[in-house]
Amino acid sequence: MKEQITPHLRTLIEKGSIPLRAQFKKKRQPKKESNFTNDPLGEEEKYSPVKGLVHKFGNRVLWKVSYRCAAHCQFCTRFRQIGSDEGDLSSEDIQACIEYIRTHPEINDVILSGGDPLFTVRDTLTIFEELAKIDSVKVIRIGTRLPIHSPKSFHAKLLKELMRKMRLYARKKGLFVLININHPDELTKSVLRAIATIQKTGAIILSQTVFLKGVNDNVETLETLFTTLYHNKILPYYIYRCDYVKGVEHFIVPFRKERMIMTELRKRLSGIAYPTYAIDVPGGRGKIPPPLHFWKGTVFRYVTDFDGNKLKI
Ligand SMILES: *Cc1c(COP(=O)(O)O)cnc(C)c1O
Ligand code: SF4
Repeated sequence: MKEQITPHLRTLIEKGSIPLRAQFKKKRQPKKESNFTNDPLGEEEKYSPVKGLVHKFGNRVLWKVSYRCAAHCQFCTRFRQIGSDEGDLSSEDIQACIEYIRTHPEINDVILSGGDPLFTVRDTLTIFEELAKIDSVKVIRIGTRLPIHSPKSFHAKLLKELMRKMRLYARKKGLFVLININHPDELTKSVLRAIATIQKTGAIILSQTVFLKGVNDNVETLETLFTTLYHNKILPYYIYRCDYVKGVEHFIVPFRKERMIMTELRKRLSGIAYPTYAIDVPGGRGKIPPPLHFWKGTVFRYVTDFDGNKLKI
């Protein structure tokens, strides 16, 4: 993955934000070999029925609209792919995805992801219109980082058109926008204004956070982050343990440290401001919440995924 950054982020980094520098500027990788892999979640290998879709859990499907994003996050789960044109979908590919969803009525929750669906907004408009016509789809989620990467993009014509479509959809069905936010430095005034633009459509805004060493691996930073999100009507949804992806080794926080931080935060935060802490277990199926330090006298030796497979972390 190449380094790519927006003028908005460059300004914040030049003003001295270390957490943003760590997320977006390339770091020289240590030479030592790790056992991390390119696709620990098996997205391509095991769970992709047609190009673009990942169907891992019965009622919901993840749709990778492209591998393109306004800026490249150096911790990305799709580190191997971001910025490449391999993930671009032709109109036939898009129709094949729509057909798959239409003919699998058990799918009622579609998650547009990528890449950033709000960055490749032309394709997302088409996809959104097609999904809106499918009765069995009750919820659309859009996973994005565009408000963080480039808040001024929300003044662009095509994005405004998508916002209009979203407003119509949100009147009748579930519409959720999930924004990856990792540090309070990301929540500038212009970013919060861009998020407010999305809120006006009637979409419910959720945040997703990734534990990142040197960025947010302490109680105070996350307490400020989740409190600020909550006060701005953004609901902290998940905080993930960083996936074991080749190229992101330097971001991994010790597992025990994460659990201690989440234990302390449970005491300090309002329930609504407290996200689900989960690990997407490598080689397994499911986002599994690790135990916190309220439970004593138990030895946790291994984890099981949704299917009961025993896995080592
Ligand atoms: C995370 C994810 C989902 C959504 O999971 P929720 O727990 O419902 O948010 C769906 N499909 C895939 C492949 C995922 O990785
Ligand atoms: S916006 Fe999301 S998909 Fe794009 S590089 Fe960042 S983490 Fe990866």
